[in-house]
Amino acid sequence: MIRVRFAPSPTGYLHLGSARTALFNWLVARGESGRMVLRVEDTDRRRSSRDMEDSILEDLRWLGLEWDEGPDIGGEYAPYRQSERGDIYREHAGRLLEEGKAYPCYCTLEELEERKQKALAEGRAPIYDGNCRELTAQERMEREAEGRRPALRFRVPEGDIEFEDLLHGKMRFSSSVIGDFLITRNDGSAGFNFSVVVDDATMKISHVIRGEDHLTNTARHVLLFQALGYPVPLYLHQSLLMGSDGAKMSKRHGATAVRNYREAGYLPGALTNYLALLSWSPPEGREVLGLDELARSFDIRQLSASPAVFDREKLDWLNGRHIRNMPLDTLVEKAAPFAPGWSGHPLFPLMIESVLDNIVTLGELPFYMEVYGEPAKPGEKAAPWLRGDTALRVLGRALRDLSSIEIEDLEDARELIASLKQEFLEKGMKPREVLMPVRVALTGRERGPALPYIVTVLGGTECEERLRRALAGME
Ligand code: GLU
Repeated sequence: MIRVRFAPSPTGYLHLGSARTALFNWLVARGESGRMVLRVEDTDRRRSSRDMEDSILEDLRWLGLEWDEGPDIGGEYAPYRQSERGDIYREHAGRLLEEGKAYPCYCTLEELEERKQKALAEGRAPIYDGNCRELTAQERMEREAEGRRPALRFRVPEGDIEFEDLLHGKMRFSSSVIGDFLITRNDGSAGFNFSVVVDDATMKISHVIRGEDHLTNTARHVLLFQALGYPVPLYLHQSLLMGSDGAKMSKRHGATAVRNYREAGYLPGALTNYLALLSWSPPEGREVLGLDELARSFDIRQLSASPAVFDREKLDWLNGRHIRNMPLDTLVEKAAPFAPGWSGHPLFPLMIESVLDNIVTLGELPFYMEVYGEPAKPGEKAAPWLRGDTALRVLGRALRDLSSIEIEDLEDARELIASLKQEFLEKGMKPREVLMPVRVALTGRERGPALPYIVTVLGGTECEERLRRALAGME
């Protein structure tokens, strides 16, 4: 059974890069009838918070990336918060200590730092120098008597560490660059590498899919799996998310948190679609895919190892496509919170339909809805459309038509505008010369949704009123 996990540290909002990791894990679990575990890595008590954990879970749910086991729903291998797994780490550390695979280290932070600086100054690798590796029982007792409390270090065996990465192929690290690393700190808490391995082992994770930044940690992890006598999982380290300048995607490239995109009115399906496409091409070249479609056609073996460069324009394009692909009533529901001043209007769905071709994000709705509010005072470019004889004739005619027809729906408005256009085209006028004066008279703007929508939403009486006002201004 395939078991994957997403293991966020709750120290900030869910980052786009982490969301991509979650997505790949989720796609593998869904595609292979596997299980997805959500594990909260909150061992850094100072930087972690329950609020951040909640926000990460909420954003994952919003993205549609649900998990099968996790801190909120439990599961066979609970608990799923590292802060609640202290006993499990202690038990495993005790085993390594007993078997001589780990040893107590009494060095203080200051001593370690001092020796590290010395190593750097002498051009040696700044790894642990093995100071406490071979202490005698007597020497240990002396240190304990000084009041020192030991941390535990893993005794890294000599030789090369090899593992197969599903994306990068064979990886080899020399143990000489690793140095004996901490498995528990001197306050008894588990170190990062140790807790990850104990958790992956005891949660029976079969595939570890995570960012390339963990690649060097993996050498340590493989050693720990072997020392503890657990099978080593399969690894896939995906490329990191980069800004256009090739540096790791960070705030200086723009918004990095999923939450920012959610608040700006991006659709979850567009984000997951985009994040998948960053490192993968759909087999039939069809790029616009919902999450379910992604799950069906995604194949982790086709993932690309090249850097994934974030491209906002492509995301915008996809978001527009997802907006237009969505059934109108679903879209209206999603749009409502973004246009609170309008969502109660009986014709709100029609308003949304009218701007479908233009909007990129739902966050732009208030801007596009303005056209249905109070008319603007025509600006420099719009004003000339309300001058001259032709405009006068067009508006006069529009007013007469409006007063003789009841506008009940979009069809009525379409007919009205079509017949107005027809009449003046026959007299040799261009479509713009007919439509622009009407548009500017009704909204004060040169741009906006197709005229029939405007006429329908404003209603016949309001339109007459605005035409009359425009005509009065022209005389
Ligand atoms: N908690 C780690 C992080 O947020 C992930 C560790 C892992 O995937 O092994 O970077």
